Amino acid sequence: MTPSVGLALADGETADAEQLLREADTAMYEAKQSGKACVRVFDAAMQRRAAERLRLEEDLRRAIERDELTIQYQPIVDLEGGTVHAFEALCRWEHAELGPIGPDRFIPIAEDTGQIVALGERVLVSAARWLARWRRARPEEPGVRVQVNLLRHQLAADGLAEWIAGLVRGEGIEPADVVLETTEIAYVEDEDTLIRTLESLHGAGFVLSLDDFGAGYSTLSNLKRFPVDQVKIDRSFFSGAHEQRDVLALTREIVTLAGNRGFDAVAEGLESAEQVTVLRVVGCRYAQGFVFARPMGGDAALDWRWDEARLGLAA
Ligand code: C2E
Ligand code: CA
Ligand code: CA
Repeated sequence: MTPSVGLALADGETADAEQLLREADTAMYEAKQSGKACVRVFDAAMQRRAAERLRLEEDLRRAIERDELTIQYQPIVDLEGGTVHAFEALCRWEHAELGPIGPDRFIPIAEDTGQIVALGERVLVSAARWLARWRRARPEEPGVRVQVNLLRHQLAADGLAEWIAGLVRGEGIEPADVVLETTEIAYVEDEDTLIRTLESLHGAGFVLSLDDFGAGYSTLSNLKRFPVDQVKIDRSFFSGAHEQRDVLALTREIVTLAGNRGFDAVAEGLESAEQVTVLRVVGCRYAQGFVFARPMGGDAALDWRWDEARLGLAA
């Protein structure tokens, strides 16, 4: 068990017991948000954040209902084949008054409130629909796939595999064309249930990807316990936060393990041509990042081709 504790202090002005409880609750919420197993003391800034969040929660519900969220696609390239391997679907929210709100802010809200299920359904259907178009528009790349993120909350739906297999088939796409990315595996309370869910998705034909690998909780042993077809090496690896030598050694280790166990390794968050060169040295075949392309609308993705000459990378 990991207790999260919120404290509120009666300072003479807050004599009201109900208000004190509300404040303690807000503080407890922040304790949970701060990674659980900690104590937070209520203050005025917390109050502001809670009000702001409440507003976002309501606005997000409306935006999902009205289908106002858009989805962008970021290519994952095949460095060996010189083709696009897949496009990852990433959700975008342009708030009418507050402007663009990043998924790092609204996805956790959607997850806490359960709205992630409705949102995820739209993302899946839209991604499958775009994939059907890309397949027609890119006959030279018949293997192009689409990658969709699934959070823990989404994995808990009953009959998940049959349900989402039905969704993508409705758009003329087979589960084998869809890569499902999951993260935070060590965070899950009930590991056996998770493994069963992943296995049922696998059994339905979906390709499974372990996202943000190396970001904190992941260990190499997770790769042995969970059914995975792909591992995405977290962008913190390549962002300069680690010693270059460690990055090389660890990437090489993951790539070797991938080769031995038959899954793909994808490096994410690549921002420079030098990083791509390093990846090639360690034999990592698939890569994603701003150096190739930023997430773009589905239409732009139709015409996007991987052209390594543009990066000055030609071997
Ligand atoms: P993620 O799955 O790790 O997605 C990759 C994130 O890295 C994206 O941020 C992408 O824009 C960003 N990125 C890609 N290349 C680079 C790079 O070279 N440098 C840097 N600095 N960043 C790069 P984004 O779109 O802000 O998404 C953030 C997170 O929100 C995603 O992380 C994912 O966990 C979540 N998310 C986004 N859309 C969805 C969705 O439709 N469903 C679910 N469940 N989660 C989503
Ligand atoms: Ca992802
Ligand atoms: Ca990631």
